[in-house]
Amino acid sequence: MDVDYCRNPKCGIYIKPGRIKYCSGDCRNEALRVRLGTPEERHKNLVRILERERCPKTDPLWSLNYYEALLAFNGFRCQYCLGDLSVWSPTGHAMDRVVCFKNGRPVPHTAANCLGGGVCKDCNEVRGAVLSVTDMFALAPKLRELRHRKDVGRTFFDGKEVTTITIETKNPPVVVVGFQKEPDLRIFGPSAKKIIEETYVYTEHRKY
Ligand SMILES: [Zn+2]
Ligand SMILES: [Zn+2]
Repeated sequence: MDVDYCRNPKCGIYIKPGRIKYCSGDCRNEALRVRLGTPEERHKNLVRILERERCPKTDPLWSLNYYEALLAFNGFRCQYCLGDLSVWSPTGHAMDRVVCFKNGRPVPHTAANCLGGGVCKDCNEVRGAVLSVTDMFALAPKLRELRHRKDVGRTFFDGKEVTTITIETKNPPVVVVGFQKEPDLRIFGPSAKKIIEETYVYTEHRKY
């Protein structure tokens, strides 16, 4: 009899044999995160692009140390939404070019043409071929608010859609979380404390 298990080593639950390798999207992302989310693996992706674009060998982007420092500068969070890259962009080089096209031609990846930190997949898609870096930073407060709500939904409420997060008091920690089509929930204790700390990261702590 065919037996198959989720390929996420931390999960390993039984799944139907076939093409699907993971029991859920979360397990897939977690496994990829572990395997492909290290700075070394991310840098390999970037190096392939640098080779293809014939980036000058003197450019700092060739250096793994330089690249890792770029990601670490912002605590491995997205420059725009501040989402944790290991969660919201588990693979890929995460570099965003300042200028992508000029006179209809792609502008290559160089240290001078890349933002000084990583960018997540969602923000990369939001920017697309339409928005500039300046536009993205103008949107950043909203992107951060949305990302924070997604993080709280994901971490504490099984991915439910969180619509509002209100800090009632900091000490003792009390937070009111609103949901789509469900009554508000009042959170106390360590969870509330964690939500308040994260809210601080997303709103007060990092201003560019
Ligand atoms: Zn699994
Ligand atoms: Zn982002």
